[in-house]
Amino acid sequence: MVAKTKIKRNSVVEPISEINQIKIIDNGDPMVELNSYCPEILIAKNWRTGKKQVLYARKHVADMLKKAVRSLPKGYKLTVFSAFRSLEDQIEIYNRSYRRFKRRHPGAPKSVLRRLTNRFVHPPDVKTPPGHSTGGCIDLTVVGPDRKELNMTKPYKWRTPRSRGVSATHADGLHEEAQRNRKILIGAMTQAGFTNYAGEWWHWSYGDSCWAWRIGRKTAIYGVARLTNEQEKKRKSAPAKPKKR
Ligand SMILES: [Zn+2]
Repeated sequence: MVAKTKIKRNSVVEPISEINQIKIIDNGDPMVELNSYCPEILIAKNWRTGKKQVLYARKHVADMLKKAVRSLPKGYKLTVFSAFRSLEDQIEIYNRSYRRFKRRHPGAPKSVLRRLTNRFVHPPDVKTPPGHSTGGCIDLTVVGPDRKELNMTKPYKWRTPRSRGVSATHADGLHEEAQRNRKILIGAMTQAGFTNYAGEWWHWSYGDSCWAWRIGRKTAIYGVARLTNEQEKKRKSAPAKPKKR
């Protein structure tokens, strides 16, 4: 029997000042390529470019994903759309998101834009590394027996500005179908030992500082992850960046 993970904090705001105080003692868990290590898991194509992705995570996290798949209803699968990101990737994603908020709120002060961006992307310039750079965070959803992604944002279309309004895991205004579908993901991931960032139904983690904060631990077990030279080469051969036009 594995002890259930006790969640102490469950908030759409995870204060950086508190998370920065969590000490990181990296346990050296190696990185594995999810595509080959977890054949039972689907790896989504990059939603911007439509290209195949090669994704990495810590080995223990990959094993937990295998466990999560086993607890899904028959015929259902997990599909991962983001996992490890280098610090450079994270900076690019942060800046892109910041620019998007700036376009939407022209004239808003820097502090406001930063707070808005921080809710969706971990800032890359604070003491604690972004969860995705530790190899402990996974962004994912569930695919049904018909091989289609379950609808998690009804009545809104996912990846549209309106669906941002229901990105919190227990958001108000969700259609019953989306609530039901989220429960499938929540059940599988929680049972496997992951904790969820309450501001994003798709973001789950283990081992990073935010995970430690959620369960009330003073130490995290994953700092910034390093890929082997071979893994790095392979990752670069399947770039996640959009092509320049
Ligand atoms: Zn994420």
